[in-house]
Amino acid sequence: MNRILIAEDNPRITSFLETGLQAHGFTTSVVSLAQEAARLADSSNFDLLILDLGLPDRDGLTVIATVRGQGETLPIIVLTARDGVDDTVVALEAGADDYVTKPFRFEELLARIRVQLRNRQVPGARQETTLRAGDITLDLLGRQVWVGDRRIELSAREFLLAEAFLRHPMQVLTREQLLDRIWGYDYDPGTNIVNVYVGHLRRKLGDNRIETVRGMGYRLRV
Ligand code: CA
Repeated sequence: MNRILIAEDNPRITSFLETGLQAHGFTTSVVSLAQEAARLADSSNFDLLILDLGLPDRDGLTVIATVRGQGETLPIIVLTARDGVDDTVVALEAGADDYVTKPFRFEELLARIRVQLRNRQVPGARQETTLRAGDITLDLLGRQVWVGDRRIELSAREFLLAEAFLRHPMQVLTREQLLDRIWGYDYDPGTNIVNVYVGHLRRKLGDNRIETVRGMGYRLRV
């Protein structure tokens, strides 16, 4: 199991990150100060650091400098504000491995985390590449989907939606959870985009696989 340290002072973002990461099998710890982040970012305790550059006590860049100065090689993904292009360059030069610009979609960050962790993996280590539920199979690397032995074409968003359901078969996923996970935390909560995409996915996967749980959300039947 991968352990992720989150250094971020915005509680809305930390809860968004923790919920999403834990749902994908990561363990998380949150700190809101740069000083704590630098102290804890020890690669024997964590596999990756998500670092907000705008922390209340010090600039997040000082964390990168301290961590790399200690010879720590754990991957660092920086969160930057949209107008912080210069920050991004400086952060990468200081030793960050990647960055995500706020506001961001969870799935984008997740993809970047996976790339970083994959790069560090010991050759031959097992990695999850396929999800199965009933007769539905998702190939996460090849981005392909089968129902039985019939291959299905899905758009990028539909694939993410299918992935969310296959990770939680027989569990109710609320519209809000799906919206957060696939479209991002800053999406208008009044949108009906989730219903629309669930409709697309239902048509493609076949009848009765995704059921509506009235007043709650949707559930994949297996
Ligand atoms: Ca901040």
